[in-house]
Amino acid sequence: MLTNDKLAEWDRENFFHPSTHLAQHARGETPTRVITGGDGVFITDRDGREMLDAFAGLYCVNVGYGRTQIAEAIATQARELAYYHAYLGHGTEASITLSKMVLDRAPANMSRVYFGLGGSDANETNIKLVWYYNNILGRPEKKKIISRWRGYHGSGLMSGSLTGLGLFHAKFDLPMGQVLHTDAPYYLHREDRDQSEAAFSAQCADRLEEMILAEGPDTIAAFIGEPLLATGGIVPPPEGYWEAIQAVLRKYDILMICDEVVTGFGRLGTMFGSDHYGIEADLITIAKGLTSAYAPLSGSIVSERMWKVLEQGTDENGAFGHGWTYSAHPIGAAAGVANLALIDELGLVENAGRQGDYMLRALSDALAGHPHVAEVRGAGLLCAVELAEDTSALRAFDPGRKVVPEIVAAMARRNVIARAMPQSDIIGFAPPLCISAAEIDTVVS
Ligand code: PLP
Repeated sequence: MLTNDKLAEWDRENFFHPSTHLAQHARGETPTRVITGGDGVFITDRDGREMLDAFAGLYCVNVGYGRTQIAEAIATQARELAYYHAYLGHGTEASITLSKMVLDRAPANMSRVYFGLGGSDANETNIKLVWYYNNILGRPEKKKIISRWRGYHGSGLMSGSLTGLGLFHAKFDLPMGQVLHTDAPYYLHREDRDQSEAAFSAQCADRLEEMILAEGPDTIAAFIGEPLLATGGIVPPPEGYWEAIQAVLRKYDILMICDEVVTGFGRLGTMFGSDHYGIEADLITIAKGLTSAYAPLSGSIVSERMWKVLEQGTDENGAFGHGWTYSAHPIGAAAGVANLALIDELGLVENAGRQGDYMLRALSDALAGHPHVAEVRGAGLLCAVELAEDTSALRAFDPGRKVVPEIVAAMARRNVIARAMPQSDIIGFAPPLCISAAEIDTVVS
């Protein structure tokens, strides 16, 4: 067996890690962490140390670790047929069944699902669908996409442009030309401290409308948003926000892309975040919770209104020229079928709602009155603690002090994994949806 030191050496010399400080890691200043096993909400590393993963990997292992039903489904699929493509009407029992299971769970106006590999490529697909749609409708100018500051939609060329966090833009020369960013619905950081939530939401909608009018409504194709801003700080929308935004979109015939990569399949205590906040989307992005990350798979769920136009497009232009080799990969699809069945069987959507309420209350009670806690917030099993140097003036800590990374590291020394949310003073929690009240107590303590 390889020693830990040998693995660390190979890691530093060969492995290009995503979202990592490359130079520090190559110099050995950040450790190599080798994770070997998982069971329920716990993961184990190579030294046999067990940690409670209160972020479900990257908020994706929703059913928890070590689910043999999903492992068996993957193994069976790999033995029988590891791969065949989905072009030209081909499918597997798993991919066809999964499409039916997704549509059965999706909002009523949804019609078809296109399967990809991850959230980023699903959002690339979405933008191509939007552009194709407007071309078929004879509106070649209607192409710009409005996203939001603090939104996260992936790190591909277009999905990275849609993302509204500077870290993911800096030095990459993304093709931002067709993308605009509007305000984040971040009520805690409102300029007018006396403003009500409803008034703040109305202001966000007014600013969106001003942007649309300034650009010309005939040039704006779609708006993309997460039901609840996730990577941008775990920020639930203020009261009335989605109602006000959707009224503006409808007024100017702008499509709504609801990015449910984090919120899809139960995290907020409802099947979709759209159900939670009353969002009627034209496209829904899904990934993470679709397979609970047992295999890579994503999807773009397409509304009936868009689907009709896509069909018309192929009648006029021939086959739909968009596909990945691994679209609807059989192993991902088998994982998806087993995963969605398990979510139902274990009642995990309901558990997320119930334990989410418990967790938010427990965190709020434990931290009430703390001089550096600006807000405890969340929905379902997605919650956050935002810190500030001075909570009344909302003055941030000096970034050099790395307060949140140090707190998260201190939690890790006590065997609990939380996430230091990027570019903020926010500690994020998104445990597997199977977490129990006793396990939540461990996290909170
Ligand atoms: N959209 C949202 C809302 C996400 O949170 C993420 C990833 O965290 C993505 C898209 C990108 O997904 P992936 O990392 O699978 O490409």
